[in-house]
Amino acid sequence: MPLPLGHAALGLLTHECSSKRMISLSSLKVMFFIVVLANLPDLDVIFGLILKGNGNAFHRGPTHSLAFAVLMGLVASGLGRFSNLFPKISFSTCFAIIFSHTLADLFFTDSPVSLLWPFEIQWAAGFSSLNEVVSSVLFEGYRDVGLIITCITMIILIRTIKYLQSDENAFNNVRNLKLERVLLTLRTSRVRKPKI
Ligand SMILES: [Zn+2]
Repeated sequence: MPLPLGHAALGLLTHECSSKRMISLSSLKVMFFIVVLANLPDLDVIFGLILKGNGNAFHRGPTHSLAFAVLMGLVASGLGRFSNLFPKISFSTCFAIIFSHTLADLFFTDSPVSLLWPFEIQWAAGFSSLNEVVSSVLFEGYRDVGLIITCITMIILIRTIKYLQSDENAFNNVRNLKLERVLLTLRTSRVRKPKI
């Protein structure tokens, strides 16, 4: 299953695809926000551990649904509008980042998710203690290496395409500007042409 690092990489890739803004290592606040959003559905593990001592007690329920992604997408995009503490990210991008988690769990794992909650509900099977959750988060991230490398490769590819497109646009703008100047010079020279 994708673990926090895998979900974080998918979240960053989703942001890259759905937003014009390019994040860098200097935009730590935005990066942190994206990583939190990408892992938000797994908050149910923490609730399970606190309330039942079992990380699987509420896992893959309502938080792993389309409705949750819409609701939290609205909340997350709204936070940036009301406070400077949070980055300004559009609803569609916040929604896509959160929903990337649900889709990754749906397609990359065997356990079902509650995609259409409240019309369906699924719960993770078995028992997961605090020790098991912590050790899987800390020591099993290597299982997502393939996913992380794929996401990084795709981000590099998307940035290269964006760079080439912006370069081509800049070239076209300069060419259009030069053409406009030539036309303007021609018009001006016609206007100034002395009468014989
Ligand atoms: Zn999950």
